[in-house]
Amino acid sequence: MIDIVKAKEIIDRESQGLGGMEEVSIVNGLNSVLFSDIYANTDLPPYDRSAMDGYAVRSEDIEKASEDIPIALNIIDMVLAGSVSEKEAGHGKAIKIMTGGKVPAGADTVVMKEFTEEDGDIVKVYKGVTKGKNICYRGEDIKKGRIVLKKGSKITPAVIALCASLGISKVSVYKKPKVAILTLGNELLDIDEELRDGKIRDSNKYALISQVNECGIYPVILERADDTFEDIYKKVIEGLNWDLLLTSGGISVGDFDLVKKVFEEAGVKIFFDKVAIKPGKPIVFGKKDKTLVFGLPGNPVSTMITFYEFVKPVILKFMGREDISLRETEAILDEDITIKPGRVKILRVRTIKRDNKIFVSMSGHQGSANLLSLALSDAFLKIPADKTEIKRGTKVTIQLLS
Ligand code: AMP
Ligand code: MG
Repeated sequence: MIDIVKAKEIIDRESQGLGGMEEVSIVNGLNSVLFSDIYANTDLPPYDRSAMDGYAVRSEDIEKASEDIPIALNIIDMVLAGSVSEKEAGHGKAIKIMTGGKVPAGADTVVMKEFTEEDGDIVKVYKGVTKGKNICYRGEDIKKGRIVLKKGSKITPAVIALCASLGISKVSVYKKPKVAILTLGNELLDIDEELRDGKIRDSNKYALISQVNECGIYPVILERADDTFEDIYKKVIEGLNWDLLLTSGGISVGDFDLVKKVFEEAGVKIFFDKVAIKPGKPIVFGKKDKTLVFGLPGNPVSTMITFYEFVKPVILKFMGREDISLRETEAILDEDITIKPGRVKILRVRTIKRDNKIFVSMSGHQGSANLLSLALSDAFLKIPADKTEIKRGTKVTIQLLS
């Protein structure tokens, strides 16, 4: 048995250099990470643009305009958004302009429609406006040639919008790994099946699908295997075609816990099969060629916790993400806790805010099969292997689940 730190070191070492780059259409890039810097290939805005509906004029003409003494100008043209005026806003002239329209030659300011009155070809201006008002100048947001986004930036909706405004339809990103999921066990039924004596529903399949989804990936779901060497072998061989293979169940000491043997038979090099963590002690990690293989424990909470602890960081690393661990925050323990020493414990806790502070207490029974307490928790509290009790009121660090 090894400790968590050692286990992570091994996983980290064995996942070095895996993954790669791919080009994707920007709309499919959400949550991916840029593999190269993005440069602005144009100024933004690309032309001097009116920020208001109003009139493009010379500021010196209307400097002295007021409610009492309005100044009248001749309207000589109109600029709609998307069109341009060939005319020049000369002395005593105004060109009507819509928001987004290109500011015509001669004009150095835009007076808002709200401070004017139109009468045929004439516009009366009731307020003096200084030079440069209501104009967004070319390149004001972004100058052509500058780096706008660095390699390693996560693609968010705003990044997609920015790329769209720069006309960048394809980007290079870290390739998302292909993840295969295999659940196994003779006792398992699918979600819609009627419960029969001795059977339970396969919840791990759904847990793992959605945990992989949380990383922004749609996994490949292999057909569930029975507890026979042949069936597991066949499906493991299929799963080894992907970047990661995740199995659940069949890795403890029972007569039908055949997964590790199957991995070995399939040529998977095993690096460890037990980690000092509770829940989740039996967990197999191995590698075949470039495929990383995780034999996760079958107990539903152990499956999910070992995924968060060991699998999710690797998936995110493949994807070029730097934020690979759960977010941490300080909290105050709201109850006394006693724990058996020996392994690092990961407790399911629930946070509550009081007096602007975060308090945590256990979200229910902490058994490895108790999904309810996991469903009711919003954070994990990791307790070092040698700790036996923590008193109410102690400051602790928790890992947030979202
Ligand atoms: P195993 O490691 O196969 O002995 O499984 C440990 C426990 O987890 C047993 O009680 C199994 O019935 C349960 N289990 C295994 N796989 C699943 C699954 N896919 N969904 C829900 N429970 C499971
Ligand atoms: Mg089993």
